[in-house]
Amino acid sequence: SERRGSIPQPKTVAIVGGGLVGCLAALAFQTKGYNVTLYDLRPDPTLITDRSRKNLRSINLAVSNRGIRALQYVDEDMAQRILQHIIPMKGRMIHDKTGTKQESQLYGLFGESINSIDRSFLNECLIKELKEAKVNIHFNHKLTKVSGLGRQDELITLSFVNDNHEFITAKFDYLIGADGAHSQVRYQMQPSMRMNFSQKYIDMQYLELYIPPNEDPEAQSKFSIDANHLHIWPRHNFMLIALANKDGSFTSTFFSPWSVIESIKSSDEFVTFFASNFPDAFKLIGEEQLKSVFENNPRGSLMQVDVYPYSDPLGKSLLIGDAAHSMVPFYGQGMNCGFEDVRVLMELLEKNENNVTTTFQQYSDVRKKDLDAICKLALDNYYEMSSKVTNVWYLLRKKLDYTLGRYLNGRLIQWLPLYTMISFRDDIPYAKAIAIEKRQARILNRIEYGTIGAIGIFAAVKAATYWHNYYARNH
Ligand code: FAD
Repeated sequence: SERRGSIPQPKTVAIVGGGLVGCLAALAFQTKGYNVTLYDLRPDPTLITDRSRKNLRSINLAVSNRGIRALQYVDEDMAQRILQHIIPMKGRMIHDKTGTKQESQLYGLFGESINSIDRSFLNECLIKELKEAKVNIHFNHKLTKVSGLGRQDELITLSFVNDNHEFITAKFDYLIGADGAHSQVRYQMQPSMRMNFSQKYIDMQYLELYIPPNEDPEAQSKFSIDANHLHIWPRHNFMLIALANKDGSFTSTFFSPWSVIESIKSSDEFVTFFASNFPDAFKLIGEEQLKSVFENNPRGSLMQVDVYPYSDPLGKSLLIGDAAHSMVPFYGQGMNCGFEDVRVLMELLEKNENNVTTTFQQYSDVRKKDLDAICKLALDNYYEMSSKVTNVWYLLRKKLDYTLGRYLNGRLIQWLPLYTMISFRDDIPYAKAIAIEKRQARILNRIEYGTIGAIGIFAAVKAATYWHNYYARNH
């Protein structure tokens, strides 16, 4: 492609963190012709044997248009190789508390889908792509120190410790920190700059569960519940979700405030809790697994990270992905947004004719308002997923929103539901999507109040007529 290899004297770029975002960033810089080295503290996940893999837990992610566009931006063929493994989910499937009723709520105006994929599997696909692209990769390397960020004329020195407890140093022109929510790069950048940084734990834990494939030979499908929906068991204070895997299984996650899980004192109580709140899921997951998960699985915590600026003033280092903006997972955008970071960064680099320093320096102002917008939206969406999806007024308003979207769109005015703008429109920045939504919400409010007012007037006229006739008849 024309983006490939355009640097006459390649600069060296170190990427710390070989998670989803670090891998995509490494591929993007390598494709542009930079000399890239990627480090991760974990062992190489592509070398894990099938036996030890069985003991590893993973979660399923929803990949949507922003993530897909970024993958395609870096390499169309790679995107195609990865996307053949996804399972489209065209809507939410809401499971009621009796375990007998399911209701589909479509995501898109015209049948658009978000897509389920296993996080570990996606990470391995990207690492295999890095190996194909001949990127230098060092696993079992834990970053411990960064120096040289405060001086223009100095290279950056990175210090690592490997799994043999050996100390290793290496020098680079540029550094990308993609080392997740607890980023060491972020910590190491702070002495050389005035970085605003906050982290906030959300009062919420998550526990991973597994719905096995349907092995009944008489069954019509290997999936016990519909594969093309994101299943939700909303119970206001807590909820269960499940996303399908290609083999017929589902990866399921139980979210609750810490007080809920901590009030359950034994695995037997956990089983009773599940059986009464999620009776249909309880049958699919099974008592044995629930007991084992309660006793053995770690409970994940959720954290929001807010950083500004993302680069040091000399433009030598930059934070992307969860290292810059860890968010709660309720809009399914953490990875999608991290992938979008890579695309935005690369487009800025193109605009700046491969001047990395200027690009890093400009990136914070280009990206900040959109990252703030999606972090807030992700937090607000927990209430939507766990409670609002069963509220009649919410459903009526959503119907109206989608009807306007379907029939008005493009004819009179542009009308797009917020979910569509966030998940299916990669060309509308997050902050702009929220501004459009605010304008539309004001119109919806007027329609709602107008309708309620009209119903009120109609009822009042009806009542007045009734009483008038009654009075006339009886006097
Ligand atoms: P990470 O995946 O955390 O990778 C960081 C890497 O850095 C790791 O490999 C780590 O080993 C390495 N590292 C850390 N410290 C060091 C060090 N000192 N030295 C060397 N290496 C180091 N997002 C979506 O888009 N859609 C979803 O549906 C979705 N669902 C989610 C559900 C749950 C329950 C959770 C918790 C998250 C979900 N997310 C989702 C968010 C998504 O998983 C993250 O945003 C994404 O994985 C972040 O990728 P990353 O590469 O920035 O960070």
